[in-house]
Amino acid sequence: MPPMLEVRDLKKHYPARNGIFRKGAGTAKALDGVSLSIEKGETFAVVGESGCGKTTFGKTVLRLIEPTAGSIRFDGTDITSLGPEQLRQLKTDMQIVFQDPYGSLDPKWTIQRTLEEPLRTHLKLSAQDIKAKVGEMLEVVGLNSHHALRYPHELSGGQRQRIGIARALILQPKFVVLDEPVSALDVSIQAQILNLMQDLQSRLSLTYLFVSHDLSVVRFISDRVGVMYLGRMVEMGPTEELFERPLHPYTQALISAIPEPDPDKRRERIVLSGDVPSPRNPPSGCAFHTRCPLVKPECRNIQPEWRMVDGNRYIACHLYEKNNNSN
Ligand code: SF4
Repeated sequence: MPPMLEVRDLKKHYPARNGIFRKGAGTAKALDGVSLSIEKGETFAVVGESGCGKTTFGKTVLRLIEPTAGSIRFDGTDITSLGPEQLRQLKTDMQIVFQDPYGSLDPKWTIQRTLEEPLRTHLKLSAQDIKAKVGEMLEVVGLNSHHALRYPHELSGGQRQRIGIARALILQPKFVVLDEPVSALDVSIQAQILNLMQDLQSRLSLTYLFVSHDLSVVRFISDRVGVMYLGRMVEMGPTEELFERPLHPYTQALISAIPEPDPDKRRERIVLSGDVPSPRNPPSGCAFHTRCPLVKPECRNIQPEWRMVDGNRYIACHLYEKNNNSN
């Protein structure tokens, strides 16, 4: 059985000038050679600070952003260079839920119209069937037909995100990119939406790519995690193993910043200096070397290879190369 998603050496480079992505001199490497597979039924999370390329990755695998190089296989089919009509058909199988439910819903449309729109665009259904499907989908996400007549501003933040999820699922996709789906919500509402997404995943056999900067949320919801830094994957592994024993210095720093109420489990906080450098002018060698507390001389010039360690962990760091005694 092929993986749901298989990405090889995916790149997205933009022409850049003055630190802003636009035409001119230089190249900003928003994605710079990402490879991974996501199995059917899995939740794979991509984490990293703002500007690491995780949202670009989520949109590029859906072809909402065109890749510069590399390949994307979806359920065994190469979709890297599909034309507009084939891509339109693919949209029924691949969907996205955005971070800001208010910004992603048209304020002038009722919820009924918002949920009807993908059905009208992609399926040939009678008006009666469309209405029935909208009603069913509202129930599936924990709302009801009364919400269909409302406008986005008449709903709470949690209800709006339920509509965002309903809109993504109404075409019965196999694969959903969840782009920071709870980070705009209150913590109490976050838990409800995360539980809903988990429940829907098992009921509807969904595969998720979960994009987030919130490691507590990622630990709760994902099976495996990939950590990105400046457009590259630096570590990948099963969620619990990665959280219990982070290997890459960047992952160690991210995890050390998670609040831990149990003093026995609390890790020493690793504070990284400075911000993520610009993807327009990334550091040479290991791109993390300007902030890494364990930097070695070769890190400044030699880019570490992506390698497997311990059978199911992957990492790009000179500390884990075979001839390194600190491994
Ligand atoms: Fe730090 Fe060097 Fe590893 Fe990069 S390769 S994370 S700079 S130790």
